[in-house]
Amino acid sequence: MLGGKSAIVTGSTSGIGLGIARSFAAAGANVMLNGFGKPEEIERVRSSLAAESNVKVAFSGADMSKGEQIEQMVREAEQAFGQVDILVNNAGIQFVSPVTDFPAEKWASVLAIDLSSNFFAIKAALPGMRARKWGRILNVSSAHGLVGSPFKSAYVSAKHGVVGLTKVVALENAEHGITCNAICPGFVRTPLVEGQIDGQAKAHGIPREQVIRDVILASQPTKQFIEVEEVGGLAVFLSSDLARSITGTAIAIDGGWTAR
Ligand code: NAD
Repeated sequence: MLGGKSAIVTGSTSGIGLGIARSFAAAGANVMLNGFGKPEEIERVRSSLAAESNVKVAFSGADMSKGEQIEQMVREAEQAFGQVDILVNNAGIQFVSPVTDFPAEKWASVLAIDLSSNFFAIKAALPGMRARKWGRILNVSSAHGLVGSPFKSAYVSAKHGVVGLTKVVALENAEHGITCNAICPGFVRTPLVEGQIDGQAKAHGIPREQVIRDVILASQPTKQFIEVEEVGGLAVFLSSDLARSITGTAIAIDGGWTAR
């Protein structure tokens, strides 16, 4: 479905980003991975993905809180693949605290990584997409890009901001063959969330199944985690030619969370 295309997926050494990168490679796209982690583990993922899918897989360790490094990552991908057709802004962090106690430096880093990184990457990747009159930009927002929750002021602000940025980029590029959409997941099963389940089960002395149903998935009507493969499948579809008329949207993949 994506043969001959090349993609960057930020924050793809783990979780949703890695799931999207795997789905892209399986669909025939070259992929640049990005994120933090142990070099030997990243190289293992990079080389196995390339071998399994017979596509080029590169890696950039660019820090998504640094504008110059983001631009450099886009240039490296253009050199490695000849072009960047698909950009997925996925890297993100969370910090939880009441507004009154929210540390200013945490606010700044959540806004930088979860929102401003999207701006820098889009700005760097757009000229090439415009020159080829084809591009797909996917910004991984969240159900928290559509609704709020207490104690997540920076995250909810950044993720709502991502939805706004998505609309503007879609409008500015609508006549250039470039679409821009936000993906808004509910709770996705990632290593981070798995760790939270174990922690809560221990803290409350209740079984994992109860933590999942009554604590973690309290606001997710299906009472089931979204799997990274589902988000990957949506990303592949939105990146395909069949999705050329879908632009400027915030697509929820949240088990009904935001239907309430
Ligand atoms: P994760 O912690 O498993 O992965 C985050 C990735 O981002 C990792 O590869 C990490 O190395 C990378 N990263 C973090 N800071 C970075 C930085 N400064 N520079 C470069 N890379 C950096 O998280 P995840 O759960 O897979 O989340 C991915 C995205 O999906 C985030 O934007 C998150 O807000 C969003 N999201 C997640 C969920 C969920 O339930 N997991 C739900 C909604 C939205």
